[in-house]
Amino acid sequence: MLVDTFSVAGKADTTDYKTSKFVYNNTEVEMKDGHAVVTPTRKELEIRISQHAPKTGLMLVGFGGSNGSTLLGGLLANQHNISWERKDGVCNPNFFGSMIESSTVRLGTTHAGEDVYAPFRSLVPFVDPKNPDQFMLGGWDINNDNMYAAMQKAAVLDVTLQHKLRPYMENITPMPSVFDINFVAANQEDRANNVITAEYAKEMLGEEVDTTGRRWYVEVIKAQMRKFKEENNLEKIVVLWTANTECFAPIIEGVNTTEAELLASLKDAEKSKHIAPSSLFAIAAIEEKVTFINGSPQNTLVPGVIEYAVRNRSMIGGDDFKSGQTKMKSVLTDFLVSSGIKPTCIASYNHLGNNDGLNLSSPAQFRSKEITKANVVDDIVASNDILYKRPGEIEKPDHCIVIKYLKYVGDSKRAMDEYTSEIFMRGKNTIVLHNTCEDSLLAAPIIMDMALCGEMLGRLQIREPNGEWENFHPVMNTISFFCKAPRVPDQTPIINALPAQRACLENILRCVAGLPIETNMRLENRVM
Ligand code: NAD
Repeated sequence: MLVDTFSVAGKADTTDYKTSKFVYNNTEVEMKDGHAVVTPTRKELEIRISQHAPKTGLMLVGFGGSNGSTLLGGLLANQHNISWERKDGVCNPNFFGSMIESSTVRLGTTHAGEDVYAPFRSLVPFVDPKNPDQFMLGGWDINNDNMYAAMQKAAVLDVTLQHKLRPYMENITPMPSVFDINFVAANQEDRANNVITAEYAKEMLGEEVDTTGRRWYVEVIKAQMRKFKEENNLEKIVVLWTANTECFAPIIEGVNTTEAELLASLKDAEKSKHIAPSSLFAIAAIEEKVTFINGSPQNTLVPGVIEYAVRNRSMIGGDDFKSGQTKMKSVLTDFLVSSGIKPTCIASYNHLGNNDGLNLSSPAQFRSKEITKANVVDDIVASNDILYKRPGEIEKPDHCIVIKYLKYVGDSKRAMDEYTSEIFMRGKNTIVLHNTCEDSLLAAPIIMDMALCGEMLGRLQIREPNGEWENFHPVMNTISFFCKAPRVPDQTPIINALPAQRACLENILRCVAGLPIETNMRLENRVM
C-alpha cells in the first residue's frame, strides 16, 4: 500500500526545521597480531534539515547536449503536464528513473500484516521538480543552438512531444562557455561557436579583462551564475558538468596538487593550460559557494580543487553518472560475491552513435571512461578474501571495457556483458546480458536526482546533543548511488555496491524523518 505522506507519532517539527534524535550504532575494529577486536559503539546524535526548500536553478554545463536537452524537455513536459501521442497510444509525462520522484521507502507493517510504503521524496523536504516556481534549468554550451534545435539533434524524445515542447524551448539558448580542444576529441571542434571571448568578458564584467592565464574565465563564469540567479529570482543554484568527457588533466606538482598552486596557476599563461574547462567551472562554483557536481568521468576534481572546496566548505560531488552498464555491474558483482560466487572474468562491450560516443571514439577521452568503469568492482572484490585470497598477490577478476562509435544506433546504446564466475567444485557459470536503452533517458532523471540531493545535503546538519550544528562533509559521498566513480573525503573507503549506496542515503534520511533505520530484520514476522 502506498501513502503520499506520513507523520511519526510523538514527533513535532518546528516550521523552520525537521529535527530528530537517533542513536548511531557502529563498531570500531582494532587489529592485534592479525586478530580483529571489534568494539560496538553507540552515539546519541541529532539531525535536522531546514523545512524551506529553496527556489533552485540547476545550471548544466553541456546544456545543449543529449542529456541537457532531454532533461529540459522531460522536465517541462512534467511541469506543464504535456501529454503526447504515439502509435501505441497517448503518453503522459513521468519521472521514471528518478529515485527521489519514483521510488518508495517502507514505513512499516499494519496490524493486518500489510506493508505500507511512502514516496522516497516524503522523507525530507526536497525541492519539487514538478513545480516551475521551485525548480528550473539553465546553463552553458559551446554550441549556440537553441534548446529546441538541440533536442531535435539529440533525437531522443518522441517527435510529437518535441513539437509540443517547441514554444517552451526555442527561446532558450545556452550561455557561452569555455572551450579548449586539447581536452576533448578533435571531432568536437565544429560544435564550438558559442565560446567566451574577451569581448563577451568585457560585457559581462563591465571592464577590459586581462586574458593572461585562465582566471578571467572563472570571473566570467561567476558573473554568469550571478546573472542567472538574479534574473530568475533564484534562492540557490547547483552547477553540474554534463558536457563532453575530457581527457584526464595531468596532476603536476607546482600546478594543481594544492589549493595555493591551483590559484597561482590560474594566473600563469603556461601552467593554466593544464587546468581543464571543467575544473574552471568547479573553481567558480566553489568561489560562489554553489554546489558543483561532475557527471563525466574525467578528473575535474584534482587535489587542488578538492582542497579549495573543503576549506571553503563548498559542496562538490561526482564523478560520472552511474546509469546503465555500470549500475548493473555494481548490482550483479555485489550479488555474486555476497552469494559466495567468484566472478573471474568480466567483459563489457558498448556501442553507441550519439555525440558522446563520437567524443569517446578518441583514445584520451575513452581512457577517462575506461578508468571510471573499471574501478567499480574493486571494493566488492576486496570485501571477500575467502574467494580471492592468493598468497603473495592481490587477485582480481580479468576485466575489460570496450566502447565503439556506431552512428546508426544514435542515442540507443547497446551494452553487452559477459560475467564468468567460479562456482562449487571449480564449476563455471557464465551470465550474458544485452542491454538496449536510450542513454539520455537513463541519465536525465539521475542528473535531476543529483541536483535535488546536492541541494538537500546543503541543508542537512548533524550534532551531538547540545553541541554545535555541523554540515555534512563538502565532498558529498552521500550521492555515491548516482556515481560510477564516487568521490569520497580523504581516508574514506569507496563503496560501489548499489544496494549499500541506496541504503546509506535512505537511512540517513529516515533518521531525519524520525523513522528507524531499515535493518530488514522483521523479527515480528519471524518469532512466535
Ligand atoms: P553530448 O555530446 O550530447 O552533450 C555534451 C554537450 O557538451 C554538447 O552539446 C557539447 O557541445 C557540450 N560541450 C562540450 N564542451 C563544452 C564546454 N567546455 N562547455 C560547455 N559545453 C560543452 O553528450 P551527452 O550524451 O549529453 O553526455 C554528456 C556527458 O555525460 C558525457 O561526458 C558522457 O560521458 C556523460 N555521461 C553520460 C551518460 C548517459 O547515460 N547518457 C552516463 C554517464 C556519463
